[in-house]
Amino acid sequence: MLMNASQPGMTVSFHGVRGSTPCHSHDTHHYGGNTSCVSVRTPDEVPVVFDLGTGVRYFGRQCNGTRQLRIVCLLTHLHYDHTLGLPFFEPLLDRDTTLEIYAPKQPDGRTVKELFLEKIKPPMFPVPLEQFAARIVFHEIGDDDFAIGKYSVRSRFVPHVGPTLGFRLTYEGASVTYLSDHQQPEDGEFTMSAGARELCEDVDLLIHDAQFTDEEFVTKRTWGHSTFAYARWVAETSRARQLALFHHDPSRSDHDISRVTAQIAEGCSARVFAAREGDSVNVVTCNA
Ligand SMILES: [Zn+2]
Ligand SMILES: [Zn+2]
Repeated sequence: MLMNASQPGMTVSFHGVRGSTPCHSHDTHHYGGNTSCVSVRTPDEVPVVFDLGTGVRYFGRQCNGTRQLRIVCLLTHLHYDHTLGLPFFEPLLDRDTTLEIYAPKQPDGRTVKELFLEKIKPPMFPVPLEQFAARIVFHEIGDDDFAIGKYSVRSRFVPHVGPTLGFRLTYEGASVTYLSDHQQPEDGEFTMSAGARELCEDVDLLIHDAQFTDEEFVTKRTWGHSTFAYARWVAETSRARQLALFHHDPSRSDHDISRVTAQIAEGCSARVFAAREGDSVNVVTCNA
């Protein structure tokens, strides 16, 4: 159930909703041009942030003035559009901040920490990551089920390009699933992996990759993403109650996002909306 932000439950906020690269133009400002970043806040638990795209700068501003801040990041994968915001996340300048990053273990044996230290340092970035004041802790995960305080977290590898996780976060019976980058079957069939199914079944809010139209998918079927229509199918077949279309293509205009979303929403069993930067929704369980 999607309710206004004053009620208890999880407040889910969209800080970056684009895929692939940040963008800005007169016809993208309504939905926004920052890359993947969605935060979850509750009345009594640590904030959780899905991905560290450029949208995380705006989440960081909301954290200003919070002392001894502990933040949990559930990172789907290491592509630039999901990690570019990390060195611009202002709470990292505060020694009282602890950022715990849960990220997919890599098949080549290198640790996620090594990979970040390798990228965030001169000459690619002026300040080495290890010189930031905050404490950054890395946890490498795969197909796992674990708890963080009152949260239950489910992580599953999902089809994309390179090792990529999807997440399901549950708090007091309310659930949100984050499937930002999800390759629909390349042959155009509407099927889904067992892992993706475990993430999506009966979820209150599904945030799902909707990068391509059916026409675009014909030439981009191996690029690691989903169509609007596939996102709708995943929501309906999983009995998701809400579907947020996400990871908008950087070339998609506001007008086209609204137009295609309206088509997808027509007759869908889930309530459908296009994720928009700056919007927040409150997710509570239907069983409450
Ligand atoms: Zn992406
Ligand atoms: Zn990706």
